[in-house]
Amino acid sequence: MDEEQFRHWSKQAAEWGVDYRNGLRDKPVRAQTAPGEIAAQIAATPPETGEAMETVFADFEKIVVPGMTHWQHPRFFAYFPANAAPASVVAEYLVSAMAAQCMLWQTSPAATELETRMVDWLRQALGLPENFSGVIQDSASTATLAAVLVMREKALAWRGNAEGLSGQAKLRIYASDQVHTSIDRAIWIAGIGEANLVRIPTSGPERAMDIAALETAIAKDRAAGLLPAGIIACVGGTSTGACDDIAATVAVARKENLYLHVDAAWAGSAMICPEFRALWAGVEGADSIVFNPHKWLGAQFDCSVQFIRDPEALVRTLAIRPEYLKTQGRDGIVNYSEWSVPLGRRFRALKLWFLLRCHGLEDLRRRIRNHVDWARLVCERLRTEQDFEIVTEPFLSLFSFRHRSAAEPDAHNLALLKRINDDGRIYLTQTRVDGAVAIRFQAGQFDMEKEDAEAAIRVILELARSNRS
Ligand SMILES: *Cc1c(COP(=O)(O)O)cnc(C)c1O
Repeated sequence: MDEEQFRHWSKQAAEWGVDYRNGLRDKPVRAQTAPGEIAAQIAATPPETGEAMETVFADFEKIVVPGMTHWQHPRFFAYFPANAAPASVVAEYLVSAMAAQCMLWQTSPAATELETRMVDWLRQALGLPENFSGVIQDSASTATLAAVLVMREKALAWRGNAEGLSGQAKLRIYASDQVHTSIDRAIWIAGIGEANLVRIPTSGPERAMDIAALETAIAKDRAAGLLPAGIIACVGGTSTGACDDIAATVAVARKENLYLHVDAAWAGSAMICPEFRALWAGVEGADSIVFNPHKWLGAQFDCSVQFIRDPEALVRTLAIRPEYLKTQGRDGIVNYSEWSVPLGRRFRALKLWFLLRCHGLEDLRRRIRNHVDWARLVCERLRTEQDFEIVTEPFLSLFSFRHRSAAEPDAHNLALLKRINDDGRIYLTQTRVDGAVAIRFQAGQFDMEKEDAEAAIRVILELARSNRS
């Protein structure tokens, strides 16, 4: 591709992006394709000679776009949001054009120094104390893995990396029965083993870890010669927004000298609003906290911030310095690849800088407060309908509900969910609460308006009452 073509197609792509965003409300939210339908339209073998960009771009529009689920659709109420505010998209164009590897300070000083600043901006925005520094990871899964590796190394007096786990005391990690599957995977990958992830039962409407049960489990493990290594607490669980009592968990972690990692991947963004910070009161006592600006805040995927109280322990766990990675003659510089599992790193701070400067915290707070209000609006409306029940109350902007029926309730609600998502005007997903199917509703798309919440109510009521299964 020559320079003129690069210019032309870059403009074309930017134009396309704007039109795409503008036209989203008229598109079905979830892709309405059958498995294999897209693959069938893509050549089975790679081309030997180049094709015209016109043809490639036309095929993108014809084949790829109809097979996309539209995460930036204002009526996306499924999973959690993956917001990408236009300001952060523009930053990503620039990052993509520069395409720098930001593993060391010297491989792009601006990327490193902007990252340090942006993590600190977010620390202030979330109301965390000054003794937290941090790093931008690709995902919460990676941040949690890094935290679990630190738990392991600290508990083994730094012998795990060097000697492996065989012959060592059995490590134990504690978390509630509501935590995300990324915790299971971190435990597997760290070599600790699923059997040593101790699941503490939860209670109350918050579905918080039972603190007495946590203390009992730790004492029992110590008595049995096992080696407690850390606790993972959650603020805003994926299923129904479960929320541990962080202050009480911190107290246990302190008393037992255990590392505490807090997973607030989704809910962390809401902490830019001071009125929600009571939900994680005590969090300043954690050793690390992960939250994803790429979920609710508006920073294009991927962008996961891990705040850390003692980066030395993290660097001691993860840093490898072969000769070719040594940066000579500079003191006080940070090489963020020593803070994360992958060596290569994208320039993720630029989109945060664009996002935070273009919107300011006030506008971002306004959006999050609206989402919380509008989720409540949908919840309260469904509560007034005789044939609906609220299964879990709103936690921030997430709640779950069920449609009552004479039929088998799980099958009935899964069928209703399928009708809703096949219809395409809105998109919802399901979960299980105490074993039974419930339909999740979360509001959080960046450009969502009140009318989108009202549309959700209309569609849910209409489809629940037509074509009864
Ligand atoms: C989304 C989510 C994760 C996983 O985040 P990734 O960045 O996709 O790895 C973990 N925990 C919670 C609570 C989440 O909501």
